[in-house]
Amino acid sequence: MENVRVRFAPSPTGYLHIGGLRTALYNYLFARNNKGKFILRIEDTDRTRYVEGAIENLINSLEWAGIDIDEGVVMEDGKITQKGEYGPYIQSERLDIYKKYVDELIENGYAYYCFCSKERLDEVREEQKIKGLIPKYDGFCRNIPIEEAKKRIANGEEYVVRLKLPLNKDIKFYDIVRGNITINTDDIDDQVLLKSDGYPTYHLAVVVDDHLMNITHIVRGEEWLASAPKHVFLYEAFGWEVPEYVHLPTVLNKDRKKLSKRQGDVSVEDFRESGYLPEGLINYLALVGWSPEGNEEILSMEDLIEQFSFERVSKTGGIFDKNKLNWVNGHY
Ligand code: GLU
Repeated sequence: MENVRVRFAPSPTGYLHIGGLRTALYNYLFARNNKGKFILRIEDTDRTRYVEGAIENLINSLEWAGIDIDEGVVMEDGKITQKGEYGPYIQSERLDIYKKYVDELIENGYAYYCFCSKERLDEVREEQKIKGLIPKYDGFCRNIPIEEAKKRIANGEEYVVRLKLPLNKDIKFYDIVRGNITINTDDIDDQVLLKSDGYPTYHLAVVVDDHLMNITHIVRGEEWLASAPKHVFLYEAFGWEVPEYVHLPTVLNKDRKKLSKRQGDVSVEDFRESGYLPEGLINYLALVGWSPEGNEEILSMEDLIEQFSFERVSKTGGIFDKNKLNWVNGHY
């Protein structure tokens, strides 16, 4: 494949989760296998979750694991810096870009200003819950004329911008692991795109950035699968080509539940501090959700790069088994 560009796009909310490292690894293996580029973008638009030092931590953990960053946010002489022609790669430094695109959506009828108070939204949600409905914005501000909305904003009213999804329309897309997916817009919310603090939500920022950074394949955890139709709608609204999607199975514990901190190590740092070797952890993690064609279980990064393909990524959750990890790690 030509010109493959993939990105790992973590939020700097603390340590790097073992599931996050696997997402980074699959992106990296795919990039290297195709002689493409692996980009690190920092998604820090949720300011309430920002943790000081998390970016350094993320980069250190990737570096320790042997995952080299080609473009985006990198570290040089112990300092965070950015490299590449599509920057900045830290979303909080791109606010004017998102504003421009959100204005374009509003002008073209794909988004609208919403002035609903938190109290009103809570009431609507409560009522819907009582009726047994899935909580969803009720469209109260959908039809406010733009000029009127602009006057209200000039008068200092607080607002957000929401996605204006058409009613009862099927959104279709293809996921390399999961195949064809169809979701009806009636089952999706009029997602907030721009928050009252002027920051975009993840949904707007991810689409704008993946497009502007020429990302060819979006490889991420399956928890984002439900968001993909909103993103596909946005690509279509902007008139942009939809990239390839790959949603990865969740990393689970032996009880088939999501790995949680209470059950022991979940951060890359924890494993590093407990003496695991990066080669062992990477080798084992690659096998949680993917399998090589042969029976070989001890594989170096070079072997993994050579053998990796999305066709052999499983649809169901991968089990993270510490005994197996210890066995693999013992080979290094
Ligand atoms: N910022 C998201 C996260 O923290 C990334 C989702 C994506 O890759 O689109 O998981």
